[in-house]
Amino acid sequence: MAEASSSSVTSLPSPSPSLTEEELTLTVKWSGKEYTVRVCGDDSIGELKRRICEVTNVLPKRQKLLYPKIGSKLADESVLICHLPLKSSLKMTMIGTVEDDIIVDQVDSSEIVDDFEIGQDEAVDIKDKDINKQKLRRRIDQYNIDVRNPCREGKKLLVLDIDYTLFDHRSTAENPLELMRPYLHEFLTAAYAEYDIIIWSATSMRWVELKMGQLGVLDHPNYKITALLDHLAMITVHSDARGIFDCKPLGLIWAKFPEYYSAKNTIMFDDLRRNFVMNPKNGLTIRPFRKAHANRESDRELVKLTQYLLAISKLDDISGLNHKYWESYKEDNSKRRRQA
Ligand code: MG
Repeated sequence: MAEASSSSVTSLPSPSPSLTEEELTLTVKWSGKEYTVRVCGDDSIGELKRRICEVTNVLPKRQKLLYPKIGSKLADESVLICHLPLKSSLKMTMIGTVEDDIIVDQVDSSEIVDDFEIGQDEAVDIKDKDINKQKLRRRIDQYNIDVRNPCREGKKLLVLDIDYTLFDHRSTAENPLELMRPYLHEFLTAAYAEYDIIIWSATSMRWVELKMGQLGVLDHPNYKITALLDHLAMITVHSDARGIFDCKPLGLIWAKFPEYYSAKNTIMFDDLRRNFVMNPKNGLTIRPFRKAHANRESDRELVKLTQYLLAISKLDDISGLNHKYWESYKEDNSKRRRQA
């Protein structure tokens, strides 16, 4: 589905670099007020909607953007802004409502659940592209991380996705605890001994706080969460093979806490490999936790991952590991070899 929606974009001629990097300041009229958002030509409409969400709290999928002459192109989130006749200081109108019931919202949301492998060469390419580095710099400038608990000296960093990683958000249950991945608190307690923990979800902060609060993660006596990040911290990148998609650049966290976290001591768990594309060596693709009612008894992924996390925490530098082979990691000999 992602490919189909972006095919119209990739078939268009590539715009000149000056157009893609140019920063636009747009005015969005919504609910009787005007808001200013900044985007660049290489950003997608999806990205524009996230910036609008930042100032209005209307979730991107609830926004309808209107501007004469552009019409339906504003409805396609994969279209790049440089492909539209948009100029700085232009005013567009947004129609949309702030969510009140985000539980309902999650259930009816259409979501891309398919993942894809990005070839080694292309992943390197995406990470090193100037335009993506520039997007990351802008995100570092714009996004504010609210620190809930202080970073701890000498600890590594574990970054965790929520949906399908810690929680089955597609199944229904009377109590959200039924949809929590088994051993979550045991896992977080054990990891906390060696890692600071940051939760990063591609949903809104309201959803992140609500979900983590319901599961008892935010006030647990045995571990503390350093920070929560949401979809607004993500960036949109373009892959020649896969079109336009969003990812979670760890460089944002490293830039905010340079004295604590770096590529050498950070690991991120996510069920979607594409989220790692800006930092492929720091990502571990976790098996998705789906169909909670059927799999609750047998899912032991977090137990096994606890052992891996604690084993690699003894290394000073974990950037040389290939997390793809985490299940066959052997602590003793490989540790010395990789450290050398
Ligand atoms: Mg997920």
